[in-house]
Amino acid sequence: MNISIVGGSLGGLTAACLLRDAGHEVAVFERSPVRLEQRGAGIGFLPATYRYLHERAGIDLAKISVPTSHIRYLDALGNVVHDESHNYLFSSWNTVYASTLDHFGTSNYHLDFEMKNFSQTPDSVSLNFVNGHSVESQLLVAADGIGSMARNTLIPSSKSVYAGYVAWRGMVRESTLPASVCQQLSDAITYFVYPHSHILVYPIPDHDGRVTEGDRLINFVWYCNYEVGQELTTLLTDKNGLLREVSVPLGLVTESNVASMKAMAQANLPTVLSDIVQATAEPFVQVIYDVEISRMAFGRICLLGDAAMVVRPHAAAGTAKAAADGWALAESLEKYDSVPLALEAYQDSQLALAQNLLARTRRVGAKSQFLNTWDPQDPEVIFGLHSPGN
Ligand SMILES: Cc1cc2nc3c(=O)[nH]c(=O)nc-3n(C[C@H](O)[C@H](O)[C@H](O)COP(=O)(O)OP(=O)(O)OC[C@H]3O[C@@H](n4cnc5c(N)ncnc54)[C@H](O)[C@@H]3O)c2cc1C
Repeated sequence: MNISIVGGSLGGLTAACLLRDAGHEVAVFERSPVRLEQRGAGIGFLPATYRYLHERAGIDLAKISVPTSHIRYLDALGNVVHDESHNYLFSSWNTVYASTLDHFGTSNYHLDFEMKNFSQTPDSVSLNFVNGHSVESQLLVAADGIGSMARNTLIPSSKSVYAGYVAWRGMVRESTLPASVCQQLSDAITYFVYPHSHILVYPIPDHDGRVTEGDRLINFVWYCNYEVGQELTTLLTDKNGLLREVSVPLGLVTESNVASMKAMAQANLPTVLSDIVQATAEPFVQVIYDVEISRMAFGRICLLGDAAMVVRPHAAAGTAKAAADGWALAESLEKYDSVPLALEAYQDSQLALAQNLLARTRRVGAKSQFLNTWDPQDPEVIFGLHSPGN
């Protein structure tokens, strides 16, 4: 088949590799005029996220990720109050994107192709792009992310629901930190949980993908509640005065918002974690939203990854969900001769997966941000796509 994938991030690219492996002609259309970069900094690197790179592309995971073997919790004074052995892998969005794009190649990866609209007949889908090009395909995979125009068109009633908090994020080079701090943070995911908030810190590859100790970055994700209205609007108004919806990217957060956030870190976080925040040159903000839908399949069009449902990051499973959608789609298309039937089967499994994950991540978010019932021993706080740890 001739397949168009709209959105060339991790979800779209993984699906593209899988569908090409299955013998289809695949083209990826990405809105950005340049290769994507720096999206989301660190990621918990779950098996579904690396499955393609590991199983099909033959990439050595040790070259693109950083292992940690402990989960640690600190108290306000920086004392370790909980320490358990648990293995995680962490990577960075950039490293995974670069590896996947290198494998897919750039000849069928089209930058500066923003989908404007689309329509379908029983036999084909037509796509029109802002740059004036049009394409006909037998299947459209919409992997166009949280603000998906495909989802908004196909399900006009779908909504992004603000979770009540944002993630402040940033990275610092290990080489710029005191050796004692690196030692304390380098082999663990380190948490500090306090009323209505929590921060987690872990090592990731650097901007060039280097994973050796000393070359890496220490990444933080700090969940903070902001009230809808003036408080949130001030935070999301960038340096150029533009009110952002989903994120305020690196370099665009106003100096006064950075200063307030750093003061908040100093007042609330243990010194070792506050020092990481203070040392971050360009922190950025991602708003936490839930998007829940009840359909992913529409004839010859399907939604994939965040274009379908958006879950909170507490299971570190957003890219894993997007990648798992790609595997399920490739398997369904292999199994059924009819595209609409294949997409219905894809929808059955992937909708259930996303709904389960959304419910779990909502519970975890509520425990830390609103109920103050987070417990380090609670199995639900362990990362995982299908269930905690899985
Ligand atoms: C604070 C935070 C922490 C997170 N931590 C983790 C983690 O630890 N592990 C993890 O796995 N996930 C994590 N995630 C989630 C993860 O980042 C997302 O789930 C994942 O990036 C979704 O991938 P995607 O390919 O579906 O969509 P996206 O990455 O959003 O990509 C969508 C792409 O579509 C393009 N596009 C949009 N509209 C159009 C159009 N009209 N035409 C053409 N192209 C278009 C966009 O430019 C973009 O490149 C986190 C998210 C947040 C907010």
